[in-house]
Amino acid sequence: TDLAHIRNFSIVAHIDHGKSTLADRLIQETQTVALRDMKAQMLDSMDIERERGITIKANTVRIDYKAKNGELYVLNLIDTPGHVDFAYEVSRSMRAVEGSLLVVDSTQGVEAQTLANVYQALDADHEIVPVLNKIDLPASECEAVAAQIEDVIGLDASEAIQVSAKTGVGIIETLEAIVHRLPAPKGDVDAPLKAMLVDSWYDSYLGVVVLVRVIDGSMKKNDRITFMQNGTVHQIDRIGVFRPQMVNVERLGPGEIGFITASIKQVRDTRVGDTITSEKKGTAKPLPGFKPSQPVVFCGLFPVDSSEFEDMRDAIEKLALNDASFSYEMETSAALGFGFRCGFLGLLHLEVIRDRIEREYNIELITTAPSVVYHLYMKDGEQRELHNPADMPDLTYVDHVEEPRIKATILVPDDYLGDVLKLCQDRRGIQLDLTYAGSRAMVVYDLPLNEVVFDFYDRLKSVTKGYASFDYQVIGYREDNLVKMSILVNDEPVDALSMMVHRDRAEARGRAMVEKLKDLIPRHMFKIPIQAAIGGKVIARETLSALRKDVTAKCYGGDASRKRKLLDKQKAGKKKMRQFGKVDIPQEAFISALKMD
Ligand code: GDP
Ligand code: MG
Repeated sequence: TDLAHIRNFSIVAHIDHGKSTLADRLIQETQTVALRDMKAQMLDSMDIERERGITIKANTVRIDYKAKNGELYVLNLIDTPGHVDFAYEVSRSMRAVEGSLLVVDSTQGVEAQTLANVYQALDADHEIVPVLNKIDLPASECEAVAAQIEDVIGLDASEAIQVSAKTGVGIIETLEAIVHRLPAPKGDVDAPLKAMLVDSWYDSYLGVVVLVRVIDGSMKKNDRITFMQNGTVHQIDRIGVFRPQMVNVERLGPGEIGFITASIKQVRDTRVGDTITSEKKGTAKPLPGFKPSQPVVFCGLFPVDSSEFEDMRDAIEKLALNDASFSYEMETSAALGFGFRCGFLGLLHLEVIRDRIEREYNIELITTAPSVVYHLYMKDGEQRELHNPADMPDLTYVDHVEEPRIKATILVPDDYLGDVLKLCQDRRGIQLDLTYAGSRAMVVYDLPLNEVVFDFYDRLKSVTKGYASFDYQVIGYREDNLVKMSILVNDEPVDALSMMVHRDRAEARGRAMVEKLKDLIPRHMFKIPIQAAIGGKVIARETLSALRKDVTAKCYGGDASRKRKLLDKQKAGKKKMRQFGKVDIPQEAFISALKMD
């Protein structure tokens, strides 16, 4: 196809504003998929994505559209992941296209992820077409929402397209806008090959599939190509496009988006954002701005049943094959036995991986408190990263500690603003900005990431009854008074419960923790002290009194079957217990203890 008849675009939106539905409708309208093969949300492939309505892997489709001017266009849609944890992937895939549809639910208005995503699109120099969706609903307020797009984002919304992705109203107008309002790609077919590695994933039949955007030159089957980041060479054995199922093509030229396979063993060998060129006479200039995505949140994952450790290793290795941004190493905990210390791009990423291990591999897990990466400046001048609070060296060796800070943007209806400000203030936040758009407030806070990984989303949701939206980006590291707090049960430290806290918040957190544990740990035949300590100093303490009766004492008389049942229950519960010296701690205790109010 000649460049003038190609349009590459993505759809940016806040979650649930209708991105997937609109994509489906565009595919259907252009009969890219026969009607009988159409299923809702064609582009969301993984189960967990469907359940949570989150698109995690970028997906792509090539659409042929005969415009009203009678000419045939090729439209390539890249569906970017919608969540903050995957911001880096979003920013890369944005650079693979020239324009975006900005979808805003006309019953809801602009939300935090609308802003985060549209700023990424603007960063990538996109032409942007605003689309007001869900106009079939009575609560739709197109004028107000268009005004909001102008006020808050500063985009001209006078020609916003009014759409119902549900009923199909406005779909042709959207296709026409893609053709006439978005720019065609540029490129030189005679220049050396330069292509962007937009995404990659593992397919059990094909091995690693690589999504590419050709900038200059062209690629075809059997070409030998180099991944410039690590210099590896591969031979293309399959090349094609997504419709959305895979269809082979002869070649991919400038402006085109498609896939290749090249006997690549693991996703790790393909770095998102890398430049692909030909082995011989390749380009000398890779695309600018490559950086590998770095895990920012770490936690320990341990099998509840320690005999499942090898199965878990297997599961983790398989998942890592398909997810280069997930890191892991083996960890041994006195408390929890053998497991893995894992690094994630954010909390959602953590949740997704944990859920997949539990569901797809049927392994029950204990998750330790998520922790951020701290920078330690040692007195001897050494600088290290701390991934696990349990590894925190004695404070006498540490000069100072730096923690990651984020810039958080929260949009919330007026009524809940006070509660949101209080929450942010409680989490050591510094207010940067507060503005209004209609009856919604937009607050911007500088917050420590470590305060956000503790149930911040949950708290925000509960104080705003679900009406707030939230987005963040890491802005850098800053020194603060951070210490390691240990938890001791029956005078033994429980490594899995140690955490880094701000010194001023240590007492409160320690108190909450020991009180919670007191309720969660079953009583034993002896007294159990539960303590929180910093270094050698105890900052909070509770005592669990000794048990007097045995559990079966309540069943008077000869009800043997009831007695049996109770004992069986106990046994089942035991499996989920962890022994600490002489004390059994139920798994529940770990999970609940880590949820702070
Ligand atoms: P995404 O998270 O942005 O991909 O949003 P989805 O496409 O999954 O849509 C979220 C919800 O809104 C789903 O229940 C859709 O059926 C619904 N939805 C999407 N577009 C429309 C529309 O135009 N009208 C109505 N009434 N509902 C819609
Ligand atoms: Mg979706």
